[in-house]
Amino acid sequence: MDNITASEIAGFGVGTLLLCATIAAPKVDALISASQRSSLGMCRKCGDLRMIACSKCKGIGLIRKGGFSVSFINDFFDSLGDSNRTMPSIPCISCQSKGRIQCPNCSSSIQLK
Ligand SMILES: [Zn+2]
Ligand SMILES: [Zn+2]
Repeated sequence: MDNITASEIAGFGVGTLLLCATIAAPKVDALISASQRSSLGMCRKCGDLRMIACSKCKGIGLIRKGGFSVSFINDFFDSLGDSNRTMPSIPCISCQSKGRIQCPNCSSSIQLK
């Protein structure tokens, strides 16, 4: 195990640090910006981006068809050996499968082009 050099360890450390910073950044941003936005007169919901992640599709733009109510049917087909069946996804209607919708706080003041 002596083929790991000091620079490799240092590189690993920096990489981990960067990874942590990348993961922590949105959380820190969310913490700070919420209070800052209101003091700056910006929209608390979207920070004047006028867009927020769609709550219906969680920002993915697609909604999985089916769900809990039909899971027993899926189990039934699974028991028949239809393992190649994939869960169909439908485009999200709320955001036109963009994953983002207009901020409800700002939309009233936005004029569409
Ligand atoms: Zn807004
Ligand atoms: Zn959506």
